Amino acid sequence: MKRVEKGVLSRKLSPRQYHVLIERGTERPFSGKLLYNKQKGAYACARCGNIIFDSSTKFDSGCGWPSFYDAREGAVKFKKDFRNFMIRTEVVCSKCGGHLGHLFKDAPQTPTGKRYCINSVALNFKENSRKKTKEAKSGKEKTKKKVRNKNK
Ligand SMILES: [Zn+2]
Repeated sequence: MKRVEKGVLSRKLSPRQYHVLIERGTERPFSGKLLYNKQKGAYACARCGNIIFDSSTKFDSGCGWPSFYDAREGAVKFKKDFRNFMIRTEVVCSKCGGHLGHLFKDAPQTPTGKRYCINSVALNFKENSRKKTKEAKSGKEKTKKKVRNKNK
């Protein structure tokens, strides 16, 4: 009897976001705009803004969806997903319950061995505004250290 307004929780969702977050759908592989995003920052739930992943845990798994090897503590919950004749671990936002993707343990190349296979449309990326301080110190300065004969 209760017709809960699903959009009430937060901002409006696009049809594709609705399909993934609410209807637990999956976007087409290699279609997500965050798939190749390598900027530093945080990935938040597109539905409620809950920060889910940090860019430092993102890695290229080649699976076609944004992949992370760890989530922020308490940011996600896990459910057993028996759909499509498989048993998978569903990853949902701990705050709003929105469907984000699935968790697999098939990434031995990462520190955790886990792969959070996440739909791009379920996430909003927030660029880290003070990324420059760290980046300037790491790596780049050293490689540029060319010794030129600077007489004069
Ligand atoms: Zn959420």
